[in-house]
Amino acid sequence: MPRRGSGAKAALVVLATGTDRTGGAATGLPGNAACNVGFTAGCGTIEHLSTAEFQSRIESEMRKWERDHDKNLVDQLFNGPESARTVLGVDDTLFRLQEGLVRGAVAINHLEGGVRQCVKCGWIDRTPDSTCPVCGSARLLAYLRAVLPPLARRYKVPLEVIAQDVADRLSKAGGIGAWLK
Ligand SMILES: [Zn+2]
Repeated sequence: MPRRGSGAKAALVVLATGTDRTGGAATGLPGNAACNVGFTAGCGTIEHLSTAEFQSRIESEMRKWERDHDKNLVDQLFNGPESARTVLGVDDTLFRLQEGLVRGAVAINHLEGGVRQCVKCGWIDRTPDSTCPVCGSARLLAYLRAVLPPLARRYKVPLEVIAQDVADRLSKAGGIGAWLK
């Protein structure tokens, strides 16, 4: 599954302009990440850096931000104020998602396993039946990690894909979870 790809570019804009110290809303980055990068620029240290060092510093900052962000997401899923309205595991999450009851989902980036997907209505689950439980059409095998992002887009559910090494608890709970509406 794709990782977030636009963040580094957004941070570079912050650094290059040096004008947006708090620009979470403007850059799409959370306030903290934008502040950290903006602070680096504000110290005047970047003018001595080569392009490679500059790039390396940005990438390091982004990696740190992503890890913090990923850890925080898992904490929110298990212990956040809305953790009572969540589902965990592949089967429950897929089911709730396709019922239109999910408002946000988080999955590890190495989700394993196969699912069956209906060729007509697109329903996905892990049951072995070769016919769709919704419309009775044929179903094909697919990789879960391949069908999940388009499925989330279809139901307009934001899907966060996070590094497995910071999501041990989520991995043990099936590698995926979601917040219900
Ligand atoms: Zn179907």
